[in-house]
Order: sequence, then C-alpha cells, then structure tokens
Amino acid sequence: MESDFTLGTGGKMPIVGLGTWKASPGEVTEAVKAAILAGYRHIDGAHVYENEKEVGDGIRVMIDQGVVKREDLFVVSKLWCTYHERHLVRGACERTLSDLRLDYLDLYLMHFPMGFKPGENLFPFDAEGQVIPDDSNFLDTWEEMEKLVDDGLVKAIGISNFNREQIEAILNKPGLKHKPVNNQIECHPFLTQEKLINFCQSKGISVTAYSPLGSPERQWANAQEPCPLQDPQIRAIAEKHMKTNAQVLIRFHIERNVAVVPKSANPKRIEENFKVFDFKLSKEDMNTLLNLNRNWRGFPMKWAVNHKDFPLHAEY
Ligand code: NDP
Repeated sequence: MESDFTLGTGGKMPIVGLGTWKASPGEVTEAVKAAILAGYRHIDGAHVYENEKEVGDGIRVMIDQGVVKREDLFVVSKLWCTYHERHLVRGACERTLSDLRLDYLDLYLMHFPMGFKPGENLFPFDAEGQVIPDDSNFLDTWEEMEKLVDDGLVKAIGISNFNREQIEAILNKPGLKHKPVNNQIECHPFLTQEKLINFCQSKGISVTAYSPLGSPERQWANAQEPCPLQDPQIRAIAEKHMKTNAQVLIRFHIERNVAVVPKSANPKRIEENFKVFDFKLSKEDMNTLLNLNRNWRGFPMKWAVNHKDFPLHAEY
C-alpha cells in the first residue's frame, strides 16, 4: 500500500506523519487527536520541541478511547544535541518515553550530527551566537543508540540532518550493529535533495522530508524568501488536480517514496494535509516541481557553521 513503506528493519513506516515542532503545549494534544482521527498513524516529535508530554496526552486519549492501538501508531522522537555524550543518551531516551507515557518508540533519530555542551540550556551559544560544542563524536553516540534497540526502548534508530560523508562514516563504522533506517532532512521543491535522497535510498536508508511546506512559522523567516505555499507554478498544478498547494507539496514526496511530516495545529488543515492519497502527480508535474530547485534552505543552521560536524559545508 502506498500509505506506508518497509524499513530496513522490516517494520512499516506510514509515509505521512504529523509534524509537531512549534505546536504549542496548549494546542498539540488536540492536534494529535485530530490527526489520529483523520487517519494519521505517524507522529513526528522531539525532546527539543518541549511538548512531548502534551503529544503523549493526545496519543493516550486516542488509545484509551479505542480509536487506535499502540501497535498501529508509528511514534518518532529525536535525541537532542546536548545529550550526545555516551553517558547521557539512555537517560534522554527514557525521559522522552516517560514524557510520552510510552514504553517504546518506533523510531529514534539523532537530531543532528553535532553534539552541544551538555546542561539545562538546550541551545548553549557563545558571545558570537555560535553553538558551544561538546567533546562527543557521533559514532560513539550511535553506539549508545544501538543499545536502545537491543534493550527494547526503541524499535529502530536513524539520523537527521546528516550529509553523505557522515552517513558513510556510520555505515563503515567497525562493529556496526544497527544501520540507520531513516535520515530526516529538509526537503521541498526549492530544495529537492536529489543526490542525498538517491544516496540514502541506494543504501536502504529511507528518507523523511521535514519543512515540506517551507516552514513559514520559522522565527527567522523573512518576506524575501521563497514561499512554496504561495508559489504560482505550484498553484497551477494544484488547481489542475483540484487540490491545494499544501496537498501538492505533500504528494511531491509520496511520488518519490519519501516520508513527509507536515506540521499543523489546525484541525481543518490537519485533515487537508492527509487528503493526498486520492490523486497522483504526473511525470510532467514532478519535473516542474523538481525544476523549482534552487538549493534554498529554511534551516541553514548558521549558528553552527564552526562546529566540527556541521553538515552543510558539503555539497550533499
Ligand atoms: P512545515 O513546512 O510543515 O510548515 C508548517 C506551517 O505551515 C505551520 O505554520 C502551519 O500552520 C502551516 N500549514 C500547515 N498546513 C497548512 C495548509 N494546509 N495550508 C496552509 N498552511 C499550512 O514546517 P515545519 O518546519 O514545522 O516542518 C514540519 C515538521 O518537520 C516539524 O513540525 C517537525 O516535526 C519536523 N522538523 C524536523 C527538523 C529536524 O531537524 N529534523 C527541523 C524542522 C522540522 P498551522 O499550524 O496554523 O496550520
């Protein structure tokens, strides 16, 4: 079925998930409930979104009401950068599980390849506004994440914001026990990521697209930047299919066998974003969308350009 695909572990991952970044604690419980009622089975969260307790409340209500069973859901969370040192990894995962009130995650991602100085502050910046690194190495962090699979805390592990060389470093790590099953990266028609997606898929690593709508809520967004939700060429394709720009932007990933996690906290838009299985984009539509690529990033991560593991200096 096209609404999910099989991971390297053999497990199934639903191709469309609900993004939860910037969904405030006050609204995210209702958003998760609305999403599950609309048919979503994949929820994308992270410790750093500071709303996992409320995400967990939404999941719990839906399970208690018999709308879904835990095993029908695919719950994703991410290890934050201030927990990369070996002795911090397990506790970070346990904290997320306890916040979500779940006894396992379906997928746990290393949120970035970069470790930050541990401590209360999730964004430790220096006077120049650059992130303060820790002493970790993402290969060691990966080894600790592998133990989470072995101990049953998570069904699968993956990565996010990793470039090709960093992925190869994990795949070539001596004694590798668990391959990453997924790389979550920014992707939309203005950043089509063809090389990185082809590379990941050729290695059996599935890809998830984040910020598929161009992330208009980013604090650092400005009016000069491209806006896929308003783009006229995308609108022409949407009108032809009697769909919205958002639905075309989501369908764009399904056509490439890439999972996609649009965020909305609005029940109507949550429903809209899931109505993407009743139409297809033609080859010509896909070419038009792919030709919009201009390697524009909503997440240039300028605050980390000096980090030894900054992923965006490489071409891909
Ligand atoms: P998106 O590209 O998903 O855009 C979300 C914005 O679009 C919100 O302002 C939302 O508003 C609005 N929106 C949603 N649906 C529609 C619609 N149908 N029509 C018009 N506007 C709409 O941005 P995100 O950056 O949040 O990315 C999605 C998810 O990806 C995140 O929530 C997070 O889970 C993940 N992510 C992961 C990252 C990583 O480093 N791994 C980095 C960034 C994101 P409203 O809520 O009011 O509907």
